[in-house]
Amino acid sequence: MPASSSSPVKVTPGDGFTPEELQVSPPTSTWVPTLDYEESDIASLEPGPRHLALMGRVVNFYDMPKPSKRPKAAQGLVKIMVADDTGTMFVRLWYAKTTYPLQLGQLVTLWTIHISQGDGQVGLAPSAAPLFTSIFPENERNCHFMIHDRSDDRSMFKRPFGARDSQVLPGLMTLKSFVDGGFDIDDCKLMVCVRSIGPRKKYTNKNGSISDLITAVVFDDSSEGHLTLYGSVSGSASAWKPYATVLLITAPGWRIDKTAKLSLNANTRVFIDPSIAEARYLRALAQRLTKKEHVNPPFPYDLFDTKEAELSTVKVLYKLSEIDEFARTNPREKAVGYMSIIVTELHILTNYKREMLMSNECCGKPIFASKVKARCRQCDRECTLRINPRILGDVIDETGTISTGKLIFSDTAWEQLLGRTAEQLVTASLDVIKYLEQRLLFLRLTLGFGIYLGSEEIGRLVVWCVKI
Ligand SMILES: [Zn+2]
Repeated sequence: MPASSSSPVKVTPGDGFTPEELQVSPPTSTWVPTLDYEESDIASLEPGPRHLALMGRVVNFYDMPKPSKRPKAAQGLVKIMVADDTGTMFVRLWYAKTTYPLQLGQLVTLWTIHISQGDGQVGLAPSAAPLFTSIFPENERNCHFMIHDRSDDRSMFKRPFGARDSQVLPGLMTLKSFVDGGFDIDDCKLMVCVRSIGPRKKYTNKNGSISDLITAVVFDDSSEGHLTLYGSVSGSASAWKPYATVLLITAPGWRIDKTAKLSLNANTRVFIDPSIAEARYLRALAQRLTKKEHVNPPFPYDLFDTKEAELSTVKVLYKLSEIDEFARTNPREKAVGYMSIIVTELHILTNYKREMLMSNECCGKPIFASKVKARCRQCDRECTLRINPRILGDVIDETGTISTGKLIFSDTAWEQLLGRTAEQLVTASLDVIKYLEQRLLFLRLTLGFGIYLGSEEIGRLVVWCVKI
């Protein structure tokens, strides 16, 4: 079984540079091409000298510092796999003083004057990208490497392997099939969504140096797995979003240990958010999961103009049965109105004692606390919490019931209901909490509500005002 630590590629001589050539020439601030460069897609490349401008996305990279005492010598190289929609090539990017802030998924252009053929072994180029080029932009004025950040509108090179929506991507399998033996298939592909991103950790390399690693939990519709990024490539995970970022991973490094433990080896290619049917399916699935699991869905301020609703001259009072009827018969419509209900249960005291008055989610994990802000245990970011909707039990009218936690209150609506802000609620004394619960129980309330069933995200009633 290939271990995850097998990824680094050994350096072999014959890179096309003599030691003298790996010396830095004076830096130039902006690079201006002095030659005519031909644009080409990667699939049509052939070995040999040619002035080429090539574009693609970074699908794998590995930084290999090679410190040299000679002041003007190259200090290392980054081995980069670049892919467009037609194929993958390998770039050996030498550097001295320049640091390239690389991340997986970045759009890059490189200008080079020679394409070489790798030997197919894991040496100069991995077998997944046998054609390569070696460039040392600080030394060679005719070579250059550029990362497009602001100019990347995410539209180019998003359909790897010439993918078509009408065809299943060859080699694509589920995490479960992968664990059940699919890892043996050449160029196997996994399409996974990020569930959570772990904290940055340190590990010691074989040569004794210290590097970073980050492990993300990933999932598809069959199973869950882990993807660990070692070294400089680990920084790429900071741009990923739980339950939204989809990764297409080809030929991952792996270890099977109940679940798949994935990593990047020399032949692995990672495409971020590819624009293909399977990725859209997975993202839709992920969003349905968050809807089902989210402990405190945010109020959809973009869908409901609460000011406009407040000022509306037509104020219609609906029964719960009528709202239910409306939702069934007009699934795409939006409605705003009022309902007159009684709260039959309250759980303010219970959640006060459990220190769960507030909640939110980060990295797909729920956070509960009786504080306005709390740190996510996964990513260590500080999150703003909102009032835990489960402090309100069932509400009823003469015609129906809405069960605990099913109403999405705006911050203003919570304040009107509780007569205090979230900050005041979490700092209130036990006596105040007891009084509040007793005061609200069996009280008749008018709720300004909104309903909109056209979007997957809003399947529940939202409450934008409370009148006592
Ligand atoms: Zn987080």
